[in-house]
Amino acid sequence: MVLFFKKELPSNPLSLRRKMQQLIAGNWKMNLLRGPAAALARDVAAGAAGLHCGLAVFPTFTALAAVQAVLRGGPVMLGAQDCHVAVSGAFTGDVAAVMLADAGCGAVIVGHSERRQCHGETSAGVQGKAAAAAAAGLLAVVCVGETEAERDAGHAERLVCRQVAESVPAGFSGVVAYEPIWAIGTGRTPTQQDVAAMHGAIRAALLRHLGPDGAGVRILYGGSVNPENAAGLLAVPDVGGALVGGASLDAQKFLAIAAAAQRG
Ligand code: PEP
Repeated sequence: MVLFFKKELPSNPLSLRRKMQQLIAGNWKMNLLRGPAAALARDVAAGAAGLHCGLAVFPTFTALAAVQAVLRGGPVMLGAQDCHVAVSGAFTGDVAAVMLADAGCGAVIVGHSERRQCHGETSAGVQGKAAAAAAAGLLAVVCVGETEAERDAGHAERLVCRQVAESVPAGFSGVVAYEPIWAIGTGRTPTQQDVAAMHGAIRAALLRHLGPDGAGVRILYGGSVNPENAAGLLAVPDVGGALVGGASLDAQKFLAIAAAAQRG
């Protein structure tokens, strides 16, 4: 089990990535008040021992402190679900990456499709957020993914690779999460062949965009991962772990997915 809590991290958190252990990340979205969030974090932390993957959870902003109190010093990394590009300023309702680091976060999701779709976030904006996250010492989890119409039209790989090139900042040392929008929360997943093809295309895009450093960027799969399909999806080449939504709200399901992770 890799220690992921920020205070335990070596100066370059990516030394963890080089160990090639898979990362199982739980996106709790806009769910759970502080009490239930802390209880879920406690259950996840209690089940973390003996796993051979990294674990991270991403509660809503208001539950970060409660969850941080539970996870402090332990193996489960704390993350947030969004950050602002600026360090401070007149941005009502926003939260700076440096504030998340100050609150005990080690990671932040940027560019989730729900932010792109519900808040009009662009890849250029996501790139700025990912750079701000890195500057604050956070591991940025940059989300990309196509709509069902885009896949049906045969444009999925081209559009996702363009999202990667436009969303990932120069010098990137974070994580990319491939999340087909049509698979999020629907119970539907791409075939393992489709996941392999897309992760291969994303890897090629990262190499074009970042040079040799693109080889080391972890690529997660996300979209309706559950205990039944996790082993198959996590066995696909170049799948570096999973970003889990609905199933991450149930500690037993989340830990069962983590138990399916590949050994590093
Ligand atoms: C997500 O939204 O990041 C996600 C993967 O959701 P779900 O697992 O519920 O499809």
